[in-house]
Amino acid sequence: MRAKPPPNVPASLALTPALRARAEALARNTLNQVVSRDASLSPDKAQELLFELRVHQIELEMQNEELRQAQRSLDAERERYFDLYDLAPVSYFTVSEKGLIVQANLTAATLLGISRSALLKQAFVQFLHQGDRGIFHDCVKRLEAGSDVQACDLRLLRKAAPMPWVHLTASAATDSVQARTLRVVLTDISERKQAERYQRIAAIAFESQQGMFITDANQVILRVNSAFSSITGYSADEALGQTPRLLKSGRHDALFYTAMWSSINASGAWHGEIWNRRKNGSIYPQRLDVSSVRDGVGRVTHYVGALTDLTEAKATEEEVKSLAFTDLLTGLPNRRALIIRLQNAISAAVRQQELSALLFLDLDQFKSLNGAIGHEQADLVLQQVAERLKSCGREHDTVARIGGDEFVLLIEHLSSDPVESRAQAETLARKVQEALRQPYQIGERQLHCSASIGLSFLDSAYEQTEEPLKRAELAMYQAKAGGRDTLRFFEPQMQEMVSAKVTLEADLRQAIADQQFRLYYQAQVSDEQGIIGVEVLLRWHHPERGLVSPAEFIPLAEETGLILPIGAWVLQGACEQLALWAGQPKLEHLSLAVNVSARQFRERDFVEQVLSTLERTLANPQRLKLELTESILLADVADVIAKMRALKAKGVGFEIDDFGTGYSSLAYLKRLPLDRLKIDQGFVRDILMGPDHVAIARAIIVLADSLGLGVIAEGVETQAQRELLASLGCHTCQGYLFSKPLPVDEFEALVRRACGLEN
Ligand code: C2E
Ligand code: MG
Ligand code: MG
Repeated sequence: MRAKPPPNVPASLALTPALRARAEALARNTLNQVVSRDASLSPDKAQELLFELRVHQIELEMQNEELRQAQRSLDAERERYFDLYDLAPVSYFTVSEKGLIVQANLTAATLLGISRSALLKQAFVQFLHQGDRGIFHDCVKRLEAGSDVQACDLRLLRKAAPMPWVHLTASAATDSVQARTLRVVLTDISERKQAERYQRIAAIAFESQQGMFITDANQVILRVNSAFSSITGYSADEALGQTPRLLKSGRHDALFYTAMWSSINASGAWHGEIWNRRKNGSIYPQRLDVSSVRDGVGRVTHYVGALTDLTEAKATEEEVKSLAFTDLLTGLPNRRALIIRLQNAISAAVRQQELSALLFLDLDQFKSLNGAIGHEQADLVLQQVAERLKSCGREHDTVARIGGDEFVLLIEHLSSDPVESRAQAETLARKVQEALRQPYQIGERQLHCSASIGLSFLDSAYEQTEEPLKRAELAMYQAKAGGRDTLRFFEPQMQEMVSAKVTLEADLRQAIADQQFRLYYQAQVSDEQGIIGVEVLLRWHHPERGLVSPAEFIPLAEETGLILPIGAWVLQGACEQLALWAGQPKLEHLSLAVNVSARQFRERDFVEQVLSTLERTLANPQRLKLELTESILLADVADVIAKMRALKAKGVGFEIDDFGTGYSSLAYLKRLPLDRLKIDQGFVRDILMGPDHVAIARAIIVLADSLGLGVIAEGVETQAQRELLASLGCHTCQGYLFSKPLPVDEFEALVRRACGLEN
């Protein structure tokens, strides 16, 4: 029998086409088997039963499948939940009523740096920073009081540094057995806290001493600090929304700003000095640093500017500069400044075909003046000199002080004609001399001072050098040598004189070593008593040049200090001579005058030197006279008096040589233990030339008389001079009228002859 094809599965059964096909196939197979085994069952009935059975089976299968499906998705959900719980970005804790951790996710364990199993049953608070535990307890208290959720920021305690900051949220809950628990969620906020800290630091840094501004990419100012406001004068409100052009001074051209912005855009920064204008309109120098800020793709998002006010720094710089170039006492340019102007003047003179000249001034006997009136007062004189020089110079001339009593006048824009410019320079120099000659009123005192002036013209050949200055100085020395208050133009032979001086010094040293000196003696004659004394004068027998005058080498010896050994040698020779004359009838009464230079007298042991020489030679101190010049008296007067008194006490006499040419204060003269004044030969020479000259000689004689001092005239050459001097009251003379300075034997013969004549 052919089995009936099974009916189709009823449409009421919602089966997928695959299930439906399977159900029908099953039913067909089973039907064939059942019908073949049980003949009592009609095939239709059997088919119906089987079919129902299959459908039940299928339904069951389907229910099982659904159950499995549900189980699978439940498992997946569970997995997801655990993943979410464990790997959540926040840390979860369940904390029991006693404060113990009963549950924690993996993130919590990672946060605390401890395994999850080690976390459980641990007190939650032990993982909080001691200082912050109170905050947590307060949260718990508020929750217990009925609050739903509590939140706070606190620090954790973690074995491994650094200590994290967390945001804590806590809420009350009940667990499965109705016990009260605490759900705690911690979020790591360390990075936020760090950022906040950096922000605070940045804010403080922004408010630095430097003025700061931040602009957007269009240079619109977004932010400024308070230093910006105090430097520029613009408040933040006034500056925001503006561009840095607000500060433009107008001192820089468009090119300047273009270069600046192209540097910022090319290298990301620019720094330099710039002039800006403050709100009040004043223009000031500042240092500016501008940097650009770029985003991830290199686009400029902001510019940051830092500005420093350089006003004070510049002022200090200027002050230092001006101090370096200014003489503090007089406010005049100093040597350094003069050299710079000199160089400029040389180049300008070349360009403009004009001549410029240098006047080198040195005050006469300023050292003596300094000693006499003290530094403070002498400084006042220098200041007055400076004023006078300024008033003599024309507007474009430079007056500088280049040393103690040395001044220089740089005279520019003279005529291009050499003769005319020389006349112009000379006129100015004479004007200067005249101005300086006028008395200086220093407090109560009226002082006099003159200057020796050297003049030289600038020469383009000496561009960039100090040569013109040296030449003017040389001319000044010549002026000094020519007598005070003198003017000299530089002449090329002056240079030769300098080298001659160098040679002279070398020769002088050799002369000391080779004993080339001799002593000459010049008689001093009294109207009544004939030769009463003698002055010893030094002579140098130069191997090549013959007899060299002391006038030529004494100044150099003084300058170089060689006068000390020379002076000692003279004193020794003079004293030996005195000792030899002692006991010789016609010579023993002679007093012997020795010239002592200021340099010698200033030596600390001068008194000891003289006394030991006297002792050594057994010379009679009563016969020894020391001739001092007025300049000696102006050093340290107390010291001078002490030395003179010490020697005077041993019988040594003193006189002032060349009297009338120096700078003597009568008040001091009175205090000195002097014996005699020696009228300078200059006055004697001129004495016959008119009443003015006579008046000077007379004044000296009257002065000596009023001080109770003797007086002697030197350089007496004629009988007329002698007689005139005698008529004025001076009866002792020295000079060619009687005798030139002579070698000792000739002098002795002279004395004997004179005595013979008298007898
Ligand atoms: P002084 O002390 O004023 O000496 C007088 C100078 O006048 C001497 O020049 C002398 O030779 C010169 N003389 C004397 N009578 C006449 C005269 O009638 N007419 C002229 N025209 N001159 C006369 P001398 O010897 O050349 O000395 C020059 C100066 O050198 C001295 O001036 C003195 O200041 C200095 N001197 C000389 N010997 C020494 C010395 O041993 N030590 C020191 N420190 N200076 C000395
Ligand atoms: Mg003399
Ligand atoms: Mg003299």
